[in-house]
Amino acid sequence: MSIFEQLSSYDHEQILFCRNDDVGLRAIIAVHNTTLGPALGGCRLYDYASEADAVRDVLRLSRGMTYKAAVAGLDLGGGKSVIIGDPAMKSEAMMRAFGRHVQSLGGRYITAEDMNTSVEDMDNIRRETKWVTGSGGGSGDPSPVTAWGVYHGIRACLEVIYGSPDVAGRTVAIQGVGNVGYYLAKYLHAGGASLLYADISQKRISRVVEEFGGAVLEGDEFYRANCDVIAPCAIGGIINTRTIPMIKAPIIAGGANNVLDDETRDGEALSERGITYAPDYVINAGGLINVCAELKGQSHDKAMSDAAAIFNTVKRIINKAKSEGTTTIRAANKVAEERMESVGRLKRLYV
Ligand code: NAD
Repeated sequence: MSIFEQLSSYDHEQILFCRNDDVGLRAIIAVHNTTLGPALGGCRLYDYASEADAVRDVLRLSRGMTYKAAVAGLDLGGGKSVIIGDPAMKSEAMMRAFGRHVQSLGGRYITAEDMNTSVEDMDNIRRETKWVTGSGGGSGDPSPVTAWGVYHGIRACLEVIYGSPDVAGRTVAIQGVGNVGYYLAKYLHAGGASLLYADISQKRISRVVEEFGGAVLEGDEFYRANCDVIAPCAIGGIINTRTIPMIKAPIIAGGANNVLDDETRDGEALSERGITYAPDYVINAGGLINVCAELKGQSHDKAMSDAAAIFNTVKRIINKAKSEGTTTIRAANKVAEERMESVGRLKRLYV
């Protein structure tokens, strides 16, 4: 597929290819959609096997950001950037060169941390452009806000299934107790929930068991757990044709990205089995909400209260899916598209 065919299949506005041989920079910035505001999305540094892989990744991820911001009700569009190369080759000059390309877009794209990029990198980018978030002195670690949003998304699911959002007396199995999973465990424990954990890191498991109590699950026990909620907070693709038949919990709601291996196939399989799935990009939008608060100069408390509103968003999406006889992921996509269409129409009224 040609580049323009790919742009049109993902419905992108713009893509910028950037190179500076002096500093070893090869980067792609994708601006997917700016209907609701400037395109925001992280800068990923990765040694892609091919340029085609890098293009596919940046197009897919930037579109995802558009939908995430739209459903979260933010005044942001969707974008993403990738720097192609070995993370060990990273330098101040490379990040500053990238910053100059970001600057050339005049605010249509705002960058942030992502895989293999750090606060220090954002600080270097900021020396060349103001269109960057998450640098030193910014909003800091997004994980507590992300987890707060996931916590409220879980409460919304409980309300739909059991008639009460109360986590007290409920059992939640968390896969991955790293940054997001740890804070999620903390909030659930404070709310009176019982916890089960699965993680490949013994150190991380020990930390949560010591602090919040609970039991440990090994391997597939996570999927088979007798609990109210399974909360994937580790890696993507874990809900798939192999794992779905094992799931006993009525709710899947966690912070990990791309939880479903195949959105359509697995979304439908969950729906057929009567399992309520809180779409990943809806329930884990707290990190983006945090960055948005930083851009607006708002406080951490404001970010936390906006993340708590994920409760209403998740509930609305589950109810919409029910009333339209569709999957929650399709319902979420529709909410995003409807918002972009209606706000887009409004913006065309006065130029
Ligand atoms: P992290 O690296 O801090 O934590 C991930 C945890 O998962 C680690 O403890 C790791 O040992 C564990 N893990 C990895 N593979 C596993 C496996 N196969 N089985 C069980 N455990 C495994 O990452 P994080 O920042 O907490 O992010 C977790 C997920 O949430 C990721 O999918 C990330 O993309 C997503 N997410 C994070 C944020 C954020 O604010 N950090 C925001 C949105 C989405």
